[in-house]
Amino acid sequence: MADTLQEKVARRRTFAIISHPDAGKTTLTEKLLLFGGAIQLAGEVKAKKNRQSSRSDWMKIEKERGISVVTSVMTFEYEDHVFNLLDTPGHEDFADDTYRTLTAVDSAIMVIDAAKGIEPRTLKLFEVCRLRDIPIITFVNKMDREARDNFEILDEIEEKLALDTAPVTWPIGQGKSFCGTYHLAESAVRHGDAEKERTRVNGPQADAAAGMLPENEQEAFVEGVELAAEACRPFDMQAFREGHLTPVFFGSALKNYGVRDLIHALMDYAPAPRAQEAENRHVEATEKGMSAFVFKIQANMDPNHRDRIAFVRVCSGTLSRGMKAKLVRTGKAMPLSAPQFFFASQRHLAEEAYAGDVVGIPNHGTLRIGDTLTDGEDIVFRGVPNFAPEILRRVSLKDAMKAKKLKEALAQMAEEGVVQLFTPEDGSPAIVGVVGALQIDVLAERLNQEYSLPVGFEPARFAVARWISAPTQQELRDFMDAHRGEMSRDLDGDPVYMAPNGFSLNYEAERWPAISFATVKDYQ
Ligand code: GDP
Repeated sequence: MADTLQEKVARRRTFAIISHPDAGKTTLTEKLLLFGGAIQLAGEVKAKKNRQSSRSDWMKIEKERGISVVTSVMTFEYEDHVFNLLDTPGHEDFADDTYRTLTAVDSAIMVIDAAKGIEPRTLKLFEVCRLRDIPIITFVNKMDREARDNFEILDEIEEKLALDTAPVTWPIGQGKSFCGTYHLAESAVRHGDAEKERTRVNGPQADAAAGMLPENEQEAFVEGVELAAEACRPFDMQAFREGHLTPVFFGSALKNYGVRDLIHALMDYAPAPRAQEAENRHVEATEKGMSAFVFKIQANMDPNHRDRIAFVRVCSGTLSRGMKAKLVRTGKAMPLSAPQFFFASQRHLAEEAYAGDVVGIPNHGTLRIGDTLTDGEDIVFRGVPNFAPEILRRVSLKDAMKAKKLKEALAQMAEEGVVQLFTPEDGSPAIVGVVGALQIDVLAERLNQEYSLPVGFEPARFAVARWISAPTQQELRDFMDAHRGEMSRDLDGDPVYMAPNGFSLNYEAERWPAISFATVKDYQ
């Protein structure tokens, strides 16, 4: 008998990996896919990372700088569970892309380099997860190398992140002698990930545990396990789900140690697709009605097709190929004729996707970031954020005849979330805003390649942009009338105040106490 929707939802895990560059995210991704049978040979993800840069021209930037600009989703299965792994760009200049992706996950794996501990990007991404109450599983990677003391790593997580830790496994050895993991609560070992099942042993001193280590390391291992079992917190599901505690696993993605432990942790601990807050109501994943939101748009994934894929997270019900969905922003029907699933290096038509799944929907500009799709109900999911840009630039066009084309191209880039677009109220040329400088480079490259629009960028008169609101329309109007030269509209037509610097922003904020100046705006 076919599974019920409840059962299908219960088997799904939608997660992301957060880490500082070089901690091992790509290697771990590759191993998770390998264990899930999504790829045959480890190395394919890395190969893909490289191939992508040559696959489309604008990604030359990625190649030149040796970074991964692309966010995508990878689906794999393991023991009856379906995993949707959402990849996030490593470079901080694409932080807003990463934040948007984190709105679409139910849990995250935090990868820490065992020698380096908590690094700045890890901290930043962790804070975003905390804001959204995303439960975190910690993977202490690179245990096959010189690492910090295990307790020191746990202490650092507790101190720097104000997060309780519960080590679930303990590494057997470290560096050259690292040869497996010991499950603290179960007194069981796994030597590398080739072993599907853990073997129960009679305490850490067993031959299959301490006995695997050189003699001079055995005592320290046994003491470590005893101390961890006694002094560390036990795993507590509720505290984990509420984001107060992280279960910690040790391993080496490179050497295939601890990866299977981690997959089991995702199955056993990580939440199935959660209920989502819509503007007007709470939407349970197991509701029959289909609802989904767009968190990411990616253009030109395949240059032969010049396509544009909107990635949607299904929040409830079943999304079926061929269904007519309602795009709530416009109220129009949108046939979903070719929704797609993404595997390591392939994509397939998705006949049916369930709450928790992430599918790509090819479209020619109909869908925007933050859009909600349903099977009829007027639900609007809030919370895919827009961040006040840190860098503002005026776009200067080398060929003035192409102004209209530029306007269209910029609007499209803004809908994809590449940049934010601001149209000054006084009729002066458009201003683009970004969070990181590399986004400007991506914009320039894409305008050139895809629209044959060579552009330059000039510093704008402004350095700060804020969304403004007031308790009454009249108060808002008064402020806007008094600041005509500093007002712009964003893509949705919402008013944005721009100031040359933080000082003048503060000055205006003091003079106009009724006005709120927001640094974050939810997409809609
Ligand atoms: P990312 O930037 O976080 O995606 O990191 P990568 O997965 O690309 O890894 C960065 C470097 O660390 C690469 O040279 C990997 O081979 C290496 N690496 C990753 N995991 C391990 C590990 O468990 N042990 C060791 N020794 N090296 C690792």
